[in-house]
Amino acid sequence: MHRTGLGFDVHPLVPGRPLVLGGIAIPSPLGLKGHSDADVLCHALSDGLLAAAGLGDIGTLFPAGNPAYMGADSSALLLQVVRMVRERDWRISWASVVVQAQTPRLAPWHRAVKTNLEVLLGCGCNLTFKHGEGVDDAGRALAMYCWCTVDLEGEPNIF
Ligand code: MG
Repeated sequence: MHRTGLGFDVHPLVPGRPLVLGGIAIPSPLGLKGHSDADVLCHALSDGLLAAAGLGDIGTLFPAGNPAYMGADSSALLLQVVRMVRERDWRISWASVVVQAQTPRLAPWHRAVKTNLEVLLGCGCNLTFKHGEGVDDAGRALAMYCWCTVDLEGEPNIF
C-alpha cells in the first residue's frame, strides 16, 4: 500500500530569533518566531508524515500551549513522529520539500539541510529553495513557508 501525506507550515520571520531549518542552525539576522524553535521545515514534514499515516497533526500531538515544548528542538519532535509512523509498520520512502524564503540566501545551506533531513527521515528527499519574488509575506521577508509531500509504503492493518 502506498500513501502520500501533504504537510504545510508558516512562521513569522523576525529579528533576534535563531534560524533553524531542517535541524540546521543557519546564521541570519532574522529568525523564525514560534513557541518551539519554529523550524518550519521539521513542522511541515511532521505534519506530512502524520497525514500520510492518518495520525492527525503536530498541533494536537505537541500543543503550542504546553510549556514542555517551549523552545523545543523540532528535529527531535520530527524523530518522535518518524518513530510513531514506523511503529505502525510504515516505511518512509520519499519526501519532496519546498521552502519559500526571500532572505537569508539559503543556497549555501542546501546540502547540509538536505543531508540532515535524509538522516532524520531515513530516506531520500528532494529539497527546493524558492525566493519570494517580492510577492506575499514570504517575498517581503516577513515569513517563511514550507510545503512538502511524504510517501509511505507498507501493509499496516490500521486505517
Ligand atoms: Mg510550526
